[in-house]
Amino acid sequence: MKIRIPVAEPEFGETELRYVTDCVTSGWISSLGPYVNRFETLLAHFCGVKHAIAVANGTVALHLGLVAARIGKGDEVIVPDMTFVATGNVVHHAGATPVLVDVDAATWNISPRAIEAAITRRTKAIIPVHLYGYPCDMEAIGAIAKRHKLLVIEDAAEALGAELNGRPAGSFGDIASFSFYANKTLTTGEGGLCTTNDDRLAARMRFLRDHAMSPKRRYYHPEIGYNYRLTALQAAFGTAQAERLPDLIEKKQRIAAMYREQLAGIPGLTLPPQRPEARSSYWMFSVLIGRAFGRSRDELAIELRARGIETRPFFMPLHKMPPYKTPRRFPVATRLGREGLSLPSATRLTAAQVQEVADAIRDLSAVSRSRRRAS
Ligand SMILES: *Cc1c(COP(=O)(O)O)cnc(C)c1O
Repeated sequence: MKIRIPVAEPEFGETELRYVTDCVTSGWISSLGPYVNRFETLLAHFCGVKHAIAVANGTVALHLGLVAARIGKGDEVIVPDMTFVATGNVVHHAGATPVLVDVDAATWNISPRAIEAAITRRTKAIIPVHLYGYPCDMEAIGAIAKRHKLLVIEDAAEALGAELNGRPAGSFGDIASFSFYANKTLTTGEGGLCTTNDDRLAARMRFLRDHAMSPKRRYYHPEIGYNYRLTALQAAFGTAQAERLPDLIEKKQRIAAMYREQLAGIPGLTLPPQRPEARSSYWMFSVLIGRAFGRSRDELAIELRARGIETRPFFMPLHKMPPYKTPRRFPVATRLGREGLSLPSATRLTAAQVQEVADAIRDLSAVSRSRRRAS
């Protein structure tokens, strides 16, 4: 059956078309012209930070942050085991060593206690990831970082619109990174961003993003840099997306509230974490399918797919993949990797579609089957 209800789907329209057209007719299609600046300014403002540096994707945003902070050979960087693979890969790209730690069962995010236990003489940085948009415990992580003089690079790729005590994700770390890949809350097709309040780190990221060319002398490159620029065409599209960002976030919140209500009380189904001081971006509405549900996560996904409903399993824990193999164990990440399922979370979903997904899940659960047997 054709997918009728997708996990993610970009939402764009007239304004995106208008800005991209303007970009084309003006001739400014490389990264020069007004749109990159305009896009950066809108996002810096949205995140409540001094600087935003637009880049080609979320992976190079993380890498740029690491190299700008001079993290490299001989350094260790603490990374959660449960994340998208890019978070670990960029540490390798920088020449440093990723040190995996387990996540917390209550938040699904990097465990502050596990961070403390993993710190060595060589530890230089922590990359907390707001998994599926739920904010990490940034206060505890910030305190640990301060105590041990570590840098915090927030991987906020999934967390645009998330908040902790009213403060936006992307404003907590020394540096934060975002992704604007097509399935992310705001998209430019491919794209990314670094944010920071640190003037020197910002200047260094701009410098390294543009081949490390001297701002004073054209074609003089005192260091080995990168071409990590975002194009003006992407920034034009992104500027229109940024203008509709409050609406996109509001829709994610509404979808999450509907799911929470309609999926409550199903045995074996765990709803995403929630605590009063945190607002998730709900990039994905993700649940855990435990034993009491009566079907495995994978069986449920297959059944839903047969009804035209698309889902995504959680990321595979990094330690399960060859480049990250280790004898250490990560019980929480392992369980999340086995039980986690992201439900359709596209902003264009109708209330009736969310209801349909929730009804299908309830219908496929053990409760429903035992009720059927009883009648
Ligand atoms: C999407 C994502 C990235 C990478 O973003 P790209 O734009 O695809 O390079 C990094 N980290 C996390 C947690 C992500 O979800």
